[in-house]
Amino acid sequence: MTVNVAGASVRKDWDTYFMDIAYMASTRSQCPRRHVGAVLVQGKKLLGTAYNGAPMGVDDCSEAGCMLVEEYEMRVVDGQQELVKKERCVRTIHAEQNLLLFTDRSDREGSTVYVTDQPCWTCANLLANSGVTEVVYDRPYLKDSEKVKEMMRQRGIIFRRMEGFAPPPGTSLQS
Ligand SMILES: [Zn+2]
Ligand SMILES: [Zn+2]
Repeated sequence: MTVNVAGASVRKDWDTYFMDIAYMASTRSQCPRRHVGAVLVQGKKLLGTAYNGAPMGVDDCSEAGCMLVEEYEMRVVDGQQELVKKERCVRTIHAEQNLLLFTDRSDREGSTVYVTDQPCWTCANLLANSGVTEVVYDRPYLKDSEKVKEMMRQRGIIFRRMEGFAPPPGTSLQS
């Protein structure tokens, strides 16, 4: 936090303010592998918050364990392409998808989504068709990253990463 000479905190800028809230939302997630939070902002008004989780009334990862799938991902390691095996939990509805399920189309038109993690391909596709015109994320997610960025560019959606952002203490699972 920045502190001015008098010792009082300086007001947070809007990006930081809303990304902080996205991280707060992410702490509600019950998946031990990934905590993702997302918020919908229209004209500096907060219109929705969401996190990744199982459908309502259905056992979540803390009760039933993660639902893991294995997949292979191409990675470049020291200039060499390598096939890396990864495990992914598919029990949860992603934060971005929950955000779209619980907000109205009219609230999304021309709005900004702040999300703790760079959206995956499926979420990016949904966001691109949701009325949202800007997506701001913090932690990069490399899988399909270039495809996602190119699709957002074609769609005319501002897609940017936070610069120099530090999540509020205790809200980041992966750091
Ligand atoms: Zn899980
Ligand atoms: Zn996703």
